[in-house]
Amino acid sequence: MKKVLVLLIGVSLVSCGLKQEKEIEDDSGNKVSENTVEPAKPEDTEFYEPIPPIVNPIGKNGVPSDAIVLFDGENLESWVQAKDGSPAKWHLNEDGSMTVKNKSGDIKTKQNFGSVQLHIEWKSPVDVEGENQHRANSGVFLQNRYEVQVLDNNHNNTYVNGQVGSIYKQSVPLVNASVPTGEWNTYDIIFHQPEFNEQGEIIKKATITVLQNGVLIQDHFEILGSTAYIGHPKYEKHGKAPLSLQDHGDNSRVSYRNIWIRAL
Ligand code: MG
Repeated sequence: MKKVLVLLIGVSLVSCGLKQEKEIEDDSGNKVSENTVEPAKPEDTEFYEPIPPIVNPIGKNGVPSDAIVLFDGENLESWVQAKDGSPAKWHLNEDGSMTVKNKSGDIKTKQNFGSVQLHIEWKSPVDVEGENQHRANSGVFLQNRYEVQVLDNNHNNTYVNGQVGSIYKQSVPLVNASVPTGEWNTYDIIFHQPEFNEQGEIIKKATITVLQNGVLIQDHFEILGSTAYIGHPKYEKHGKAPLSLQDHGDNSRVSYRNIWIRAL
């Protein structure tokens, strides 16, 4: 049988094996090259670097060992009043939680953050008061401007893009996974900060994924800009910024506990 002469000599990768050429003799005794494909080996697609750092997922107090603890019930030293940077005025409770001090204002972390994984727990008071947006309204603000809504939505309707777990006025949560009023909810949040060019124009929007009590409620949503009460969202150039928690100013009595964050 006549063999086809191939000009390229050497070794190249094909989709599932190593392609090689070797010289053989054809039926007439002429030297020709023949393509052969060595079967792929498992190790062809295995590599050993970089080695991920080791993290203890249940370190001190059950917090991942590489996390920054922002609140563990001991004190409010990682927080200040958002408007003037004075010491945080919210109530520190004996059960290891803190509660919004009505009309004292939002609090924010002393530290600035970029892209993060955040764990935070919150609960609304068991004795309900108010309705719609005025029932246990608070909020978790990534970079001090992108709000994940905190609200007691149990038997309490409101606009769906402002309900519990919404990216306020931008993204309706996939589901409402709230526990009964007065019990502790968890939010686990993956946030990637936006990127801007030197002219201050947005070149990569922020994204956010949120799990409420382990249930996915925001699936890699591309944030449209700062979450505003009035008007459409828009981006303004910023860098790393604090995490902040909202005092809605209407006796929300929302409590928080066990707050930790990991820089991404
Ligand atoms: Mg709010």
